[in-house]
Amino acid sequence: MTEVFYDKDADLSIIQGKKVAVIGYGSQGHAHAQNLRDSGVDVVIGLREGSKSIAKAEEAGFTVLSNREAAEQADVIVILAPDQHQRKLYAEDIEPALKPGKALMFAHGFNIRFGYITAPEGVDVFMVAPKGPGHTVRREYEAGRGVPVIAAVEVDASGKAWDLAWSYARAIGGLRAGGIKTTFTEETETDLFGEQAVLCGGTSQLVQYGFEVLTEAGYQPEIAYFEVLHELKLIVDLMWEGGIAKQRWSISDTAEYGDYVSGPRVIDPRVKENMKAVLADIQSGAFAERFIADQDAGAPEFLALRAKGEAHPIEQTGKKLRSLFAWKQQDEDYVDGSAAR
Ligand code: NDP
Ligand code: MG
Ligand code: MG
Repeated sequence: MTEVFYDKDADLSIIQGKKVAVIGYGSQGHAHAQNLRDSGVDVVIGLREGSKSIAKAEEAGFTVLSNREAAEQADVIVILAPDQHQRKLYAEDIEPALKPGKALMFAHGFNIRFGYITAPEGVDVFMVAPKGPGHTVRREYEAGRGVPVIAAVEVDASGKAWDLAWSYARAIGGLRAGGIKTTFTEETETDLFGEQAVLCGGTSQLVQYGFEVLTEAGYQPEIAYFEVLHELKLIVDLMWEGGIAKQRWSISDTAEYGDYVSGPRVIDPRVKENMKAVLADIQSGAFAERFIADQDAGAPEFLALRAKGEAHPIEQTGKKLRSLFAWKQQDEDYVDGSAAR
């Protein structure tokens, strides 16, 4: 059985004794920076010139420096800019500031696993990856709880990289929930597979097809929205609490029987074969290459796919419905129904 690490297994004073530079102040960046600070860690923020995040970080009371200056000053450099920009900012601003004894920290293994970043000798390379979105990482910490983390050490130059990793994990609140050991390879490949096959890709496509089938058959889009999207959260909450078994315990016998006989008709064994092909492209680096090549070209494929997704009729229906009902929650960084980012 996997060993789980908690607060009692980590020495908070290790990270409290270091200066930490958080590069990027987005979803993960703001959460790590604020949680570290509240845990008594000395944090500066690194951002590119003209960044629209500067005002946000300064408003939160942080000192904001250039990426290079922040990396120069810090013992631990935390790379929380988007994965596709990390290679360039690392080469230009971080690598020149690295010296033996410093440490590089990631929240996802992409750039290390696929070879876009290689640290110089003498530098520890570790990862603490929260298994949840950045805004939840901050909210849970403020509520006295934490989001579980997985941690890895790629290079243990100091011989103490694991102690540093667990200390960091504790400071962001992750060990209040629990942490488990992984490797950069395992984290990267499973994270990409999970988001592509099930969590994001699989679920989005499943919901869109469900909505299309009902509306094309003449049912009201608002009713279709409730049935295939709104209720999904309630089902997933049950799975999260007690597995698929708890979900099946809670639903009606009619729904449970339908689950058994129709689930495998919709998600048939071909889907498993498709998933294996997706995993093979992740493992071979083909997905990473395609993503980075598109990003390097200005992201034409990515932006076209994003626009196509936003134009799906389910988004219009959802926007209208959510504005009419009391469950609607505001997220300070998300403008509902608009592509503003
Ligand atoms: P975001 O897209 O939220 O990061 C945006 C931030 O990075 C902004 O502050 C942006 O500033 C800044 N940024 C962009 N380019 C640069 C640059 N060249 N130099 C410095 N800062 C820059 O990223 P995420 O938080 O989503 O992801 C960060 C890392 O965390 C990734 O490795 C990701 O895989 C991982 N991760 C993310 C999760 C999540 O919840 N989103 C979950 C677990 C891991 P500007 O205003 O200038 O654009
Ligand atoms: Mg993930
Ligand atoms: Mg991911």
